[in-house]
Amino acid sequence: MITIICGECTRAPFGIAPDGLFQCDHCRHSLDLRDIDLDGSDVWCVDSAGTLGYVVDPAASLTAMSEALEEWLYATEPAVLHYASLSLRDALTDLRAAMCAGLPFPSHA
Ligand SMILES: [Zn+2]
Repeated sequence: MITIICGECTRAPFGIAPDGLFQCDHCRHSLDLRDIDLDGSDVWCVDSAGTLGYVVDPAASLTAMSEALEEWLYATEPAVLHYASLSLRDALTDLRAAMCAGLPFPSHA
């Protein structure tokens, strides 16, 4: 999980507050989940300590793993084989991070 740092003070992460919002651990700036702006395949999550962060969507990781595996199976060039191996490792690492953050395994897999 990559921790989301407060954009107001840039000093601390957000922790979950009793009202369901997230609050900066330093300046107390509040963040609504609707205001979280993540890149395409990233999804937000909360770790066991209540800290807000993000990981790659597990469904996107499974798709990337499938594509990398197919590329690896049909690779004829050592460089392509190596690149596919790295892509497969990266996607597996992303999937593991999402599972560790408590996200469910995609149901359509
Ligand atoms: Zn702050």
